[in-house]
Amino acid sequence: MNKIKNIGVLTSGGDAPGMNAAIRAVVRAGIYYDLKVTGILRGYEGLVQADFIDMDRKSVANIIQRGGTILKTARCDSFRTPEGRKKAYDNLIANNIDALVVIGGDGTFTGANVFIKEYDFPVIGLPGTIDNDLAGTDFTIGYDTAINTVVSAVDKIRDTAESHNRLFIVEVMGRDSGLIALRSGIGAGAEAILIPEVETGMDDLISRLEHGRKDKASKIIIVAEGDEIGGAFHIGETLKDKFPGYDIRVSVLGHIQRGGSPSCMDRVLASRLGVIAVEGLLNGHSGEMVGQLDREVVYTPFDQAIKHINIEEASPAWLKLIEILSL
Ligand code: ATP
Repeated sequence: MNKIKNIGVLTSGGDAPGMNAAIRAVVRAGIYYDLKVTGILRGYEGLVQADFIDMDRKSVANIIQRGGTILKTARCDSFRTPEGRKKAYDNLIANNIDALVVIGGDGTFTGANVFIKEYDFPVIGLPGTIDNDLAGTDFTIGYDTAINTVVSAVDKIRDTAESHNRLFIVEVMGRDSGLIALRSGIGAGAEAILIPEVETGMDDLISRLEHGRKDKASKIIIVAEGDEIGGAFHIGETLKDKFPGYDIRVSVLGHIQRGGSPSCMDRVLASRLGVIAVEGLLNGHSGEMVGQLDREVVYTPFDQAIKHINIEEASPAWLKLIEILSL
């Protein structure tokens, strides 16, 4: 007989559009299966501080369309310590919480993995991050919205770039992963995309610009913040020296990439995976992220899910598309 009666749910790490849709799905699935659902505020910080709220059907009404997370999120240093995790465990036991759904990215799953090894406590993860940098799911919750936000911002930048014959360097989020830059760059018709996974180098970029068509009214270069060349402003300065004839501008998109109403794709992904997470816990799953690969639901152990280096998309083959398409 399954002993799970009360499921805790939290959002952790960077916020992502669709986290609310995921919370809603976990709460409604919990109620559907006659469980109590406890909301944990501010990620692992709320676990350590016992900041808990009872969730009911109405507490997740009218949130599927909202960006951010109603449970708030935080980075929590004390959960990185054995003492902090002990407090978290004691709080779970004291509040009769039998299992957890954690919604977040690789750091969140790394923390959950350490916790499970110490306390053998059931935890399922939902991929909630704009970065799409998790193995075991084609897309993470929030990624689709974020790349659409970037594309719509770059479309606007393109209008002004065309009018002034400017070259724009647009920096997008992605400290370790270039997947936001990659898809949004293709979608926005960029001339070049610079991502941390593939070493392009300034010489390559200069050569691309030297050999590219000179008669284009505007050029857009998309750079992931973690690219090894060193940020949009640095690239801008170097290109200004090399191409004094270019009118070069830099735009750092920043936090607008996290906000906004989630796309339908993100809402559906969050809704489906949220329900499966609760069902997975009831069926004895733990220590795994629930993802979707080729439309199928897939459970991936946390230590595998966080290996984003295995994601093939951030590759020279994808960047070649840009070389061909920007002719
Ligand atoms: P995003 O990728 O969107 O930023 P994330 O889940 O990777 O999301 P992090 O800030 O890296 O965000 O991690 C969230 C939290 O997970 C940390 O604040 C910390 O509390 C916990 N955590 C991360 N790594 C560990 C670890 N090695 N041990 C224990 N806890 C950890």
